Order: sequence, then structure tokens, then C-alpha cells
Amino acid sequence: MSGLYVICEARGEEFRPATYELLAVARAITAATDGEVTAVVAGPEVALKSKLEGLAHRVLALTAPELTPFSADSWVDALATAIEAGSPRAVLFGEGGRTREVMPRLAARLGAWALSNCVDLRVSGAAAAGAGSVEAGDSGATGGAADGAALEVSRPVYGGKAYVTNLVPADGLLLAAFRPHSFDAGMAPAGLTTAVEEVAAPVAASRVELVERREGGPRKADLTEAAVVVTGGRGMKGPENFGLLEDLAAALEGAVGYSRALVDAGLAEHAFQVGKSGKTVSPTLYIACGVSGAIHHIMGMDTAKVVVAINIDPTAPIFEYADYGVVGDVLQVLPALTEQVRAATS
Ligand SMILES: Cc1cc2nc3c(=O)[nH]c(=O)nc-3n(C[C@H](O)[C@H](O)[C@H](O)COP(=O)(O)OP(=O)(O)OC[C@H]3O[C@@H](n4cnc5c(N)ncnc54)[C@H](O)[C@@H]3O)c2cc1C
Repeated sequence: MSGLYVICEARGEEFRPATYELLAVARAITAATDGEVTAVVAGPEVALKSKLEGLAHRVLALTAPELTPFSADSWVDALATAIEAGSPRAVLFGEGGRTREVMPRLAARLGAWALSNCVDLRVSGAAAAGAGSVEAGDSGATGGAADGAALEVSRPVYGGKAYVTNLVPADGLLLAAFRPHSFDAGMAPAGLTTAVEEVAAPVAASRVELVERREGGPRKADLTEAAVVVTGGRGMKGPENFGLLEDLAAALEGAVGYSRALVDAGLAEHAFQVGKSGKTVSPTLYIACGVSGAIHHIMGMDTAKVVVAINIDPTAPIFEYADYGVVGDVLQVLPALTEQVRAATS
């Protein structure tokens, strides 16, 4: 077993930011070893493979008509064959719907470790790499004998109150899905030559027939990828005030989320709900506006790097999780905050 595979997922014509973050941590981990980083693209993403040049030692492009559009059955076939052939030490995925369909099936097929919701990866004994600057050649943070040593993978548990670290033995194949923003994408390394290998993947016919595909409405900023998330809770009172959230999010180039209280009341779409039964976000900055901080909400944002809470009640649980707190009426604080941000960024 050697090297790391990164499954590269795109949205439209661009790879997800998580792809670049995973490639960066994979480069850092393999920097001090003979292992190589293989960027794996399949189906529709094959057309984007040139965007990965210089970011991995090798691009493995899996082609088969059955891989487009996405079908979990076909993707598992193609990836399982590629992983068995290449025998990597670990396969890294970005968290998301497609990963949730593919990774557990692959793990069952290959008898591999499958860990989801991960936020850090390192060679056993090395310092934590998560959220740090990881660049190829930076063996100080994560380098080590990746191929001969155990890997450590960390994940939040109990609503982010604790982190559990799984030790994956050197002879174990690891499949791990990481939250967006777990690693710094860093700069593209200088002088890394990428070999491109196109392979016709052996794929059995899918057991699932795609009958119809319906596109959603106009795409808003993706909550799970956003570096800044501004979330409104019941304290926002009603949709007539949601513009205040959108204004602040726009000023910070972020996305807007909602608590379940607003979604259950029919005031916001479930697609934008943050929490246990909604989206898991991991932004650099999370601003909770009129959100009480119930554990089910916290479970969806507990790995945000910096949390700001605005709440009229100084005893609201959200303040226990906040790095910065404002005790006040959101309807007054938000316009003032947005004005300050605009002034500071214009
Ligand atoms: C199985 C399960 C899954 C769940 N999943 C989720 C989930 O995914 N996401 C989620 O969010 N919840 C989820 N919940 C619900 C969760 O437990 C809470 O009920 C919900 O998060 C509360 O939403 P809230 O904070 O907006 O409302 P509230 O708890 O009512 O809090 C409103 C807050 O606004 C403050 N406030 C009021 N007026 C103002 C003002 N003018 N200015 C400033 N602050 C003000 C109040 O002090 C209060 O703290 C789940 C519950 C269960 C049982």
C-alpha cells in the first residue's frame, strides 16, 4: 500500500474547494515518503482534469458511459477497481451527498475503514494538520512514513464538545470523508509534474434507472462550502427581516442559513437549515443571529473556526460556543454590523 488517492468532485465547471484542500493535505503527508498523490476524476469530472495539473503526481481519469450522469452503483464499480489496482494507503473524499452514497458501499466492497465527518488527518505521532497551513514539502506538520505508519483521523463528537481520534493501522485501507475547510488549500507547489492516465473503467450496468432530473431554482451560495455563514433563528421574528441576514452575508461574501425553528414554521427552505437534521457547515466565520444554541443546531456548526453570536438573552446557550458575543436586539445590531463591515471593506 502506498500513496494517497483524492476523489475530486466538481460543481459545474469548477472543482469543489474541498478538492484543493484535500490535495494539499495529501501532498503534505506524502512529501516525506515515496508515496504519490493521485487525483481521481470520473465521469463528468474527466473533462476538468487539466485543472489538476501541478497539484498531484498523477491524475487518474476513469471513463465509462455509465459514469455520466452520476450513479452510485457505477461509481463504486469504477472506484473499487481503481483502488484495488493502485493499492493506495488512503482515499480522501469531501463530505457531501455523493460521498455518502459511494463511500460506505466502497468500504463494504473493499473491507476498508470508512470514517465520515472528519476534520483532521495526520501520520501517527505528527502534529495536527487540520486548519493549519499545509504545503507540499512541509514535512514538519504532517510528514512522516505515511506508508509504514498508522494514520490518525479526528472527528467531532457530542456536538463538538469532544474530538475522537481514530488510529488506522499501517496495513488498513482508509476511506475518509472530510468536512469543507478542514485544511488550508495553500499555494500550488512549484515544479510538480502531473502524469495523466486515462482508464476505461469496467462498470456493470447500474441497478438504478434515472427517470427524470429536475434542476432546483437559481443557485444560492452553497452553505456547506461557504467561508462565512450568517444564520438566522427565531429571534429574527419573520421573513420581513431576512434581508438583514442577506445584507451582512453579501458584505462578507458569505451564505445565509436558518435554524430549524424558522424552517419548521415554513419561513425558510430546508436546503438552508443548519444543524443535525439540516446541513453541516464548517466555515471560517459563523454568525448566529437570534439563535438560542440548542444542541441540535450546534451539531451542524460546531467546527466553525470563529463563532459570533447576537442574542438578546445573555444566558442563551449559544454564548457558550461563541468566540465573540453581542447581547442585543438582532434587528438593531445587524444593520449596524453590516454598515461597519461595508465601511471596512470598501
Ligand atoms: C431530532 C431533532 C433534530 C433537530 N435538528 C435541528 C437542526 O438541524 N437545526 C436546528 O436549528 N434545530 C434543530 N432542532 C431543533 C432545536 O432543538 C431547536 O429547537 C432549534 O434550533 C431552535 O431554533 P432557534 O434557536 O431559532 O429558536 P429558539 O430556541 O426559540 O431561540 C430563539 C433565540 O432568539 C433570541 N431572540 C429573541 N428575540 C431576539 C432579538 N430581537 N434579538 C436577538 N435575539 C433574540 C432568544 O433569546 C432565543 O435565544 C432539532 C430538534 C430535534 C429534536
